[in-house]
Amino acid sequence: MRLHLMSWPEVEAYLETSKGVIVPLGSTEQHGPTGLMGTDCICPEIIATRAGDKAGILVGPTFPVGSAQHHMAFPGSMTLRPSTFIAALCDWIHSLAHHGFTRVLVLNGHGGNVASVQAAFSEVYADFSLKRRGADEASLRCLLVNWWELKGVMQLCRQLFPVGHGSHATPSEVAVTYFAFPEAIKSATLEPKIAPEGPILDAADYRRRFPDGRIGSDPSLATPELGEKLVACAVKGLIETYERFRVAD
Ligand SMILES: [Zn+2]
Repeated sequence: MRLHLMSWPEVEAYLETSKGVIVPLGSTEQHGPTGLMGTDCICPEIIATRAGDKAGILVGPTFPVGSAQHHMAFPGSMTLRPSTFIAALCDWIHSLAHHGFTRVLVLNGHGGNVASVQAAFSEVYADFSLKRRGADEASLRCLLVNWWELKGVMQLCRQLFPVGHGSHATPSEVAVTYFAFPEAIKSATLEPKIAPEGPILDAADYRRRFPDGRIGSDPSLATPELGEKLVACAVKGLIETYERFRVAD
């Protein structure tokens, strides 16, 4: 049920049966010495794809680069400035709305994206309110869901990783990526075992406070087996959330 693996007649046929779509939203940024650059894309993508296959929900292409200026002191990290990000996401959503999608669920993988996504939704709604869209176009609802906030996921994270979960390069997100791509599992000595905590400011400050990129976490606890459990829990939660959203007034 992935848009980029469908033909246009298949998308047209899907639209006859449903106006809903899930868009995974990621970021390309460092995730410590053992985490993958694509962690924040891979997590929402595997959860959305599995939920889509199970429940017959169309999954749009993953939006791959987000708001990650604070990771730019680490090689490979990429970022969009907020204004670019908001504009691009607006067009992404408007493109889907143009074809008749009226329920767009954005499944987010990166905490730093939240403010810009909400701003993009406000822009999209303003376009409708100010009649910048075609007058006959059905109105649109957008919903932002952070995958770690899906029902049961945080509870499972706390249960699986009572110590060293932290907030960046967490064992839960790393476990999900190791389940998705076991061939990409990394190993490195993590020193200290649990990374320091602190505020997030600019890129140079981030590297000074968090020299290996992790915040408060011990991703050496991550295994593909634990990732599989997290994905199963998140898929269930996503299907429930999506169904509520799809039928909501
Ligand atoms: Zn992440």
